[in-house]
Amino acid sequence: MLENKNTENTSLESLGEFGLIEHLTKNFTLKNESSIKGIGDDAAVLDFKENKAVISTDLLIEGVHFDLSYMPLKHLGYKSVMVNLSDIYAMNAKATQVTVSIAVSNRFPLEALEEFYSGVELAAEIYNVDVVGGDTTSSTKGMLISITAIGESKEEDITYRNGARPNDLLVVSGDLGAAYCGLQVLEREKEVFKVNPNSNPDLSMYTYIVERQLKPEARRDIVELLKTLDVKPTSMIDISDGLSSEILHLCKQSGVGCNLFEDKIPLDPTVIAACEEFNIDSTLVALSGGEDYELLFTIDQKEFLKIKGNPNLTVVGHMTDQNEGAHLISRNNSKIPLTAQGWNSFSND
Ligand code: ADP
Ligand code: MG
Repeated sequence: MLENKNTENTSLESLGEFGLIEHLTKNFTLKNESSIKGIGDDAAVLDFKENKAVISTDLLIEGVHFDLSYMPLKHLGYKSVMVNLSDIYAMNAKATQVTVSIAVSNRFPLEALEEFYSGVELAAEIYNVDVVGGDTTSSTKGMLISITAIGESKEEDITYRNGARPNDLLVVSGDLGAAYCGLQVLEREKEVFKVNPNSNPDLSMYTYIVERQLKPEARRDIVELLKTLDVKPTSMIDISDGLSSEILHLCKQSGVGCNLFEDKIPLDPTVIAACEEFNIDSTLVALSGGEDYELLFTIDQKEFLKIKGNPNLTVVGHMTDQNEGAHLISRNNSKIPLTAQGWNSFSND
């Protein structure tokens, strides 16, 4: 699927490493005051003045983290930046720079990398971050991507995972489970395509969930919203692995317990419909689906009025004393221990 039949393919060898880097990065301009030196020297130079630097890195491997048979390379470039920016926003910080390192095998032509970089460039443009460096090398098999995101924040605004206290409210942005449902649709279509390469499926009813899988957005807007509302979360994490495992991270690092209410978990109607179609439990999908890239945070109860009624934010539970443990309070009011996989009763099925 990599081959674009309408264009000539240019081998990477024909450009050489330096020609390739120059070609791929020629459009990158520096937009942030903190970017003193970007691509072109031995190292980038940044200046955050009185702010603290916040840094996060991720490694993505073809066949493990992404599948190029349904992931267009432009989307992959975009998503690779998003998953990293999400970690910066989860610190309540402003993302300012990224570095992008790639390794590809010789099955990738220049045009494939151009596609990937067009996604990186779009993400950098929309989220106002500068691409200030990276590394380019070959791999014996497949594609590897390593992105480092850099951000800045006033020291007192930085939000860690360890600040939640008993009675704090647990809040989530957006809705959950859609990226996992989108993946189920894409996996199914991949199998259909194997049997019938001429199938031309109508995926329009799945637009939202497929987009959530292929083109997620990091929640910069939520960090800005919290500043506007004058709410400083006591703890925060981004939801990359599923609500359940992220709640357990907050609980463990903060030394608290939690009650999560099943009927409060925000689900898009298309997620509920897809779960019915695939015969999977929508609560389980929200708890352990992953890749939603929403923000999960705790706030002091006295901040509740500031967020009340905001369509982007849902209170899904509250923190408790540590010895009470972390539980899902189900719709029929039973109390089920949360596990990283979802909830306890499920693992016994
Ligand atoms: P070095 O030999 O020091 O690793 P390179 O020749 O790899 O230097 O890189 C030259 C410049 O290009 C550096 O500024 C580096 O950060 C940047 N660069 C290299 N590869 C990439 C890439 N894939 N994306 C963005 N910038 C890159
Ligand atoms: Mg290098």
